[in-house]
Amino acid sequence: MNPEAELRRAIVEISRLLYERKLVVATDGNVSARLDRKHILITPSGFCKGFLREPDIVRIVIPETDSPPRTPRPLGKEVGRVHHQGTKTPRNLHLEGWDAAGEPGLSRAKIGDSPQTGTVPIFAPISAGASSETPMHLAVYQARPDIAAVIHAHPPYATSFAVSGHKLNHKLLPETHLFDGPIGRVPFLKAGSTRLAQAVALVLKSHRLCLLARHGAVTTGKTLLEAYYRLERLEFLAQVSATAR
Ligand SMILES: [Zn+2]
Repeated sequence: MNPEAELRRAIVEISRLLYERKLVVATDGNVSARLDRKHILITPSGFCKGFLREPDIVRIVIPETDSPPRTPRPLGKEVGRVHHQGTKTPRNLHLEGWDAAGEPGLSRAKIGDSPQTGTVPIFAPISAGASSETPMHLAVYQARPDIAAVIHAHPPYATSFAVSGHKLNHKLLPETHLFDGPIGRVPFLKAGSTRLAQAVALVLKSHRLCLLARHGAVTTGKTLLEAYYRLERLEFLAQVSATAR
């Protein structure tokens, strides 16, 4: 199995666990993983995490760090490659979609105008959009090149602490103290907004996980499983903390 197919399968499995273990409900939450230096894979918008299939997962280009935030374009399956020679427009070009930079319409004119010679992959447009929290995931990957997975969920006990504002002490349990460290706090900002994306990325520069006020939690990891375990431990810590009061 190629790396992308393996990662799609892993995201589907982790998403199913999130739903089955009630760390998210309905269509809530989102899961992403770094595919390579330039791309991430992320769960689609509006899908229940318990019933995802591998083709539902969306591939997204990570923007350059200094480029302004914008709504990223999802890339579908690669449908073909076109060879072009400098300013010569290739013949019989009927494929349309987005190029690898996530730009729309690899048109005859665009290829014809390109001064470079080479082979350009073309991706089919896809109907399902990426998660509405994609800007938040991208901001974290930009801020933390060492991170390869990001999970956003609404675990009920951890979310209760995010709603109440009560302190959640990571030192209460040895595992969270050892493996996760302090839990960052992000103030309430509109879900899906660029401001939330920037605030989460800032907090996660110095934390491995955080609570989003009146919203939920975000965990990171060097692997999907690490980010998932971190979320489970956070929820367990919150449950024990609430019960021990
Ligand atoms: Zn959420």
